[in-house]
Amino acid sequence: MDKAYNIIYHTHDILVVGAGGAGLRAAATASAANANVACISKVSPTRSHTVAAQGGINAALGNRGKDNWQWHAYDTVRGSDWLGDQDAIAIMCEKAPEAIIELEQMGMPFTRDDEGQIYQRAYGGQKTDFGKGGLAYRACAVADRTGHALLHTLYSQALQQNVEFFVEYSALDLIFDEQRKCLGLLAWEMESGDLHVFQAHITILATGGFGQIYEATTASTICTGDGNAMVLRAGLALQDMEFIQFHPTSLYGSGILITEGARGEGAYLTNANGERFMERYAPNYMELASRDVISRAMIQEILAGRGCGDKKDHLHLRLEHLDANMIDGKLPSIKEIVKTFARLDIHKHSIPIIPAVHYTMGGIPTNSQSQVIDGNGNIVEGLLAIGETACTSVHGANRLGCNALLELVVFGKSAGEMAASITAKPKSHKEITNAMLEKALSHLSNLQNLKGNTTPNKLRKELQKTMHEYGNIFRTRELLEKGNKKLGDLWQIMNNDLKIADNSLIWNNDLLDAVETDNLLRLAIATLNSALNRTESRGAHFRADFPKRDDENWLVHSLVSLNEAGKVSLAVRPVRLENEEKTISFPLEERGY
Ligand SMILES: Cc1cc2nc3c(=O)[nH]c(=O)nc-3n(C[C@H](O)[C@H](O)[C@H](O)COP(=O)(O)OP(=O)(O)OC[C@H]3O[C@@H](n4cnc5c(N)ncnc54)[C@H](O)[C@@H]3O)c2cc1C
Repeated sequence: MDKAYNIIYHTHDILVVGAGGAGLRAAATASAANANVACISKVSPTRSHTVAAQGGINAALGNRGKDNWQWHAYDTVRGSDWLGDQDAIAIMCEKAPEAIIELEQMGMPFTRDDEGQIYQRAYGGQKTDFGKGGLAYRACAVADRTGHALLHTLYSQALQQNVEFFVEYSALDLIFDEQRKCLGLLAWEMESGDLHVFQAHITILATGGFGQIYEATTASTICTGDGNAMVLRAGLALQDMEFIQFHPTSLYGSGILITEGARGEGAYLTNANGERFMERYAPNYMELASRDVISRAMIQEILAGRGCGDKKDHLHLRLEHLDANMIDGKLPSIKEIVKTFARLDIHKHSIPIIPAVHYTMGGIPTNSQSQVIDGNGNIVEGLLAIGETACTSVHGANRLGCNALLELVVFGKSAGEMAASITAKPKSHKEITNAMLEKALSHLSNLQNLKGNTTPNKLRKELQKTMHEYGNIFRTRELLEKGNKKLGDLWQIMNNDLKIADNSLIWNNDLLDAVETDNLLRLAIATLNSALNRTESRGAHFRADFPKRDDENWLVHSLVSLNEAGKVSLAVRPVRLENEEKTISFPLEERGY
């Protein structure tokens, strides 16, 4: 072990990595069940990306018309283009109403209807009666600041339950014993520059998504997929990495999200001729078709020369016709964002918008109990994954709006309960030997001592540009191969020509940038290779050279792993098409909106 590092050791029953909605729900639940829980976060908990969620959280409460959880499950399976695991989807949708009531009882200030019940709005890809009825009003919201309210509610719960927080600690790598049981991880404390080994019987990864592999994304700069990259470095596979969700409506110029809730409240899209072009692409669902369908339609309009503005490179979202009081009550942030960043008044002007990367469907493969599984489907002892970092997989090839926040609270709670039950009997901690730490420490020390010419920031920007150019909404073999070659060049720069200006460990943002960029590069390589391998179009993954869904060959999850030389291995795993209780099983259908 490197003598230069000062390492502080901690032992806990449970270690939660990440203080977004998923991590906080799990930490508070486990702590309430008397487990000793540590939660580490690289940013202050209330700055986690969950805070940015706007539109809402789904549950078939039926407060605004008839609804039930099986209809919700059907929409989710259809939205996933049948790639979602139906056992996990059943759990999520069935538990949704209870999860909302729990949040309400914790004090989450949901917007109310005239009768005082929780208000619910329509959202994309969701109807009643197994897709045959009218719109489903299923998204519970706190105006258009739902994530903000959710995160603060859960943080106060975690504080009340005495979860021990370690804030501005960056997790670097997982630690395993010889039998591949996870024993905890190595983390770096920014303020002191100390390294910490957190040892726990159960480690729960809740580190969020990796939207930052792309240039234009609504994901915050901290969404660098650190947990996913740690799993790759541990030699385990990630799942369904090719499925990247583009959200149709980000503000042109700044990329800030304009919630789908706006369309749920009646906003619509037009092209340069003022046409509601969705009529051509999704006549039944129109602007409430699923996100992949609308994003593709928008790009097709632009390619056909019907884009708006001098450059004909964006489209319009229109809210001018909507009631001003409704906007002030239910979409106040959208009004503010458009005023501040586009200097437009949404009561008078249409909003210039363009699709942007929004959500990463792929991630760490788990079973429906959130236990991480390896390429053969075996459970990796001591390790759970929840939230956007996980691929459980409730979203399959395309996530429905408002199902992500729901996933956080449902699986956050069950993971917290499971971890607490496993650790309920007192157990001793196995000794962490120097050999077990070796790999993690040498990874850090290699990065710390890079003395080339390229700054981490420059490399990150190059990587994001590459992904945008070659891994966008429309993909072809040629584009993906070119992109892969480019990423190979960036891998060489990462390992041979990166420059770290100063190798101190105290608040060294340059080094943190290098750690994160290394993570992003691994995830980008995993994404483009999985996209090249999948020779069909399904959900968010559209191959212009294979435009049809191919269930015979591709009704399977993709698995991708990466060795230390950057070489990729690919495999597949069957989709779970029913649940044990047989409460749902939706056979394959053609997916149209
Ligand atoms: C702009 C925007 C709007 C959205 N709106 C909605 C919506 O209305 N409804 C909906 O359902 N979904 C929405 N989503 C999706 C949803 O918000 C996210 O998928 C979800 O909040 C992710 O939560 P999480 O707990 O998994 O991770 P995050 O909230 O991203 O939190 C990750 C946590 O991990 C920590 N972390 C990460 N790496 C490390 C590390 N190396 N060491 C230590 N800690 C680490 C971070 O500090 C943070 O605390 C939206 C997403 C965006 C970007």
